[in-house]
Amino acid sequence: MQKRDILLKIYNSLYNYFGPLHWWPGGSPFEVMVGAILTQNTSWNNVEKAIKNLKKRNLLNPDAFYYLSQEELSKLIKPSGYYNIKAQRLKNFVTFFFEEFEGSTEKMFSGDSEELRKKLLNIKGIGPETADSILLYAGEKPFFVIDTYTKRIFSRHKLISEEAAYHHIQEFFYQNLPKEVKLFNEFHAQMVMLGKTKCTSKNPDCPKCPIVYLKKLE
Ligand code: SF4
Repeated sequence: MQKRDILLKIYNSLYNYFGPLHWWPGGSPFEVMVGAILTQNTSWNNVEKAIKNLKKRNLLNPDAFYYLSQEELSKLIKPSGYYNIKAQRLKNFVTFFFEEFEGSTEKMFSGDSEELRKKLLNIKGIGPETADSILLYAGEKPFFVIDTYTKRIFSRHKLISEEAAYHHIQEFFYQNLPKEVKLFNEFHAQMVMLGKTKCTSKNPDCPKCPIVYLKKLE
């Protein structure tokens, strides 16, 4: 079976099993970008608590966020873990956002997406996974997000190497899938769901997994 056919089969099996997941679980593009940084090294449940704190004070908009002190921000995002580091990263990001795009998401996403990706990667604390999450979920640009779950699932079935670098794994998807925002969005969401519920780091629940047939293809 061709890799493209395998990928689409996996996608269809997961979609049929879990249903549409409607990601990203955030509101405005700005909120998605903040969430993409907050979710580094933590679960979404913890991010939600931090987002709730920011929303309660009406701070989840570019202007209010820009003027918020790093100290105050640190306190509000405490539930997301690594809050001092994340407050610094969020400040780095929002400074960039205003300097480059005057705090406008329309301006940010209206130019060349590859150029924007390079700029995002130059911000201290923003790596490829965060940059691609911002591009895909806030900007609706066709960038495939590679995370721990995707790496784990695909390497367990030897579709990618366990040691493969981020951009190599991403290339695997680009070479074998049509570059479509909706597909990339839902595929990543399905990977996360599978990684959390079946393909866990210890004791994966293979007998109940919707893509257990991959074992026969190895
Ligand atoms: S749970 Fe098992 S069958 Fe499912 S993706 Fe993980 S390793 Fe494969």
